[in-house]
Amino acid sequence: MTFAATVLTLYPEMFPGPLGVSLAGRAMREGVWSLDTVQIRDFATDKHRSVDDTPAGGGAGMVMRADVLAAALDSVPAGRPVLAMSPRGKTLTQARVRELAGGPGVTILCGRFEGFDERIFEGRDVEPVSIGDYILSGGEMAALTLLDACIRLLPGVMGAPSSGMDESFETGLLEYPHYTRPVEWEGRTIPEVLRSGDHARIDAWRKLQAETDTRLRRPDLWERHEGARVKSPSGARRRNKDE
Ligand code: SAH
Repeated sequence: MTFAATVLTLYPEMFPGPLGVSLAGRAMREGVWSLDTVQIRDFATDKHRSVDDTPAGGGAGMVMRADVLAAALDSVPAGRPVLAMSPRGKTLTQARVRELAGGPGVTILCGRFEGFDERIFEGRDVEPVSIGDYILSGGEMAALTLLDACIRLLPGVMGAPSSGMDESFETGLLEYPHYTRPVEWEGRTIPEVLRSGDHARIDAWRKLQAETDTRLRRPDLWERHEGARVKSPSGARRRNKDE
């Protein structure tokens, strides 16, 4: 089954852009995923083809019109989640990426200016999605980011299917650090344990590194991970007693 992406944007020429090369590009040519773009401006109704207007209540910038966005969305086949890239949405997670990648595809609205007329979200059941706590000039790069994260999970896109499972966030932790030859570079050597051939020691070392790095760099992730760990041993005990 092809993962079908439709992107609604004022700049369709930005697509497929980076998704046309490397693994994603090859997968697109092989039909693993497909991409359509819709020029939002084609759905403007006035003679100036305007897609935006001044904010109700005053203030700087321009707002994308709900009627034009709705007409553009209504031109796209139904049956796929409809997302709008917006810093006001929930932040995208690897868990949500996995869910999306397991579905039929996505329809993505890209904002410009100050963003969307708020009524579009309820009016067309649109889910706002953020890619992080910073402001881009438009939703296109955010859409490319979301699509890239989904596409690499599609069957057959990445070489070894297992190579994704240790990755940062999949386990609730950052991944352990990597090294490769040369063994010595500018006086720095690859940690001895990784050259020991002792897989149990290597696994233990990697686990400790992943935990330490997560605790120091991402206390938010670490807290969630510890919360889950503290809960699960007692759950396991309770299950054992019932047996
Ligand atoms: N005034 C808005 C920002 C508008 S930025 C606010 O303060 O919330 C213009 C467009 O860029 C947005 O409509 C959205 O489509 C996109 N964009 C900017 N930052 C983003 C982010 N962190 N995640 C997803 N999309 C983003």
